[in-house]
Amino acid sequence: AHRHQPRGIGRLKATIREIYQTMTALLEIRDLHASVGDKPILKGINLSINAGEIHAIMGPNGSGKSTMSYVLAGRDGYEVTGGDILMNGESLLEMEPDERARAGMFLAFQYPVELPGVGGMSFLRAAVNARRVEAGEEEIDQLGFVKIVREKARLLGISDDMLKRAVNVGFSGGEKKRYEILQMALLEPTMAVLDETDSGLDVDALRIVSEGVNLLRDPGRAMLVITHYQRLLNNIVPDQVHILAGGRIRKSGGKELALEVEEGGYAGIDDAA
Ligand code: ADP
Ligand code: MG
Repeated sequence: AHRHQPRGIGRLKATIREIYQTMTALLEIRDLHASVGDKPILKGINLSINAGEIHAIMGPNGSGKSTMSYVLAGRDGYEVTGGDILMNGESLLEMEPDERARAGMFLAFQYPVELPGVGGMSFLRAAVNARRVEAGEEEIDQLGFVKIVREKARLLGISDDMLKRAVNVGFSGGEKKRYEILQMALLEPTMAVLDETDSGLDVDALRIVSEGVNLLRDPGRAMLVITHYQRLLNNIVPDQVHILAGGRIRKSGGKELALEVEEGGYAGIDDAA
């Protein structure tokens, strides 16, 4: 009921997006090479994720998982030296990080930044409205936004008190995770990338992330969950699992591949070449 009909250019873009969605994968990574500084990290990644799917990337420390998420988001200092990244058939490579975000790419921050003095509501509303303008939808006024946020926050177990505070200031680890999932729920990304570090993921945080991901599973959305540990995937059932090692995907399979890794570690994964 909150959605407005896209107009003009927005409508045209939405139509083109819909056509592409039926023809191509939502996210397509083609022979992606990327360097940090002068050091090549990603050495030919191929990955294709359809709308509605959740894929997991697992891999040992230092294999390039976080690098891959930063390259998708377009972070400064991560240079693409070959290949392409297509979202709904459109290359992301020439797009600035904020353009990618407005186009529907969402990267959950591993270490959410604190923004003292920035009210949570205005921060979230600015982000949501930027995305709506891009989609040719009307901006939401403050009152309407408060209603939407309250509704989503309730689903995610976020208190009104937390919403009144400045962004991430004084939040516990679990609260930051909840807030991150709330951002994702509000922004309704086309492609959500969650890079979950090995550290700081206590049982509570794992539960928040997996509940959030499951809640946001949607036929029009693709999600990429990056993790070092299998246990996150106990509660998120991925459509495909990929093992990244040495900057390449060494093995892909169904959800059972995560269990294989849990039992055998990464030793069994062919790390040659
Ligand atoms: P993962 O997330 O899988 O643990 P990363 O993507 O963080 O792996 O790191 C992949 C490789 O890139 C590692 O060898 C790491 O040392 C290197 N690396 C990551 N960030 C930088 C950086 N800013 N400068 C130089 N090397 C980096
Ligand atoms: Mg990492």
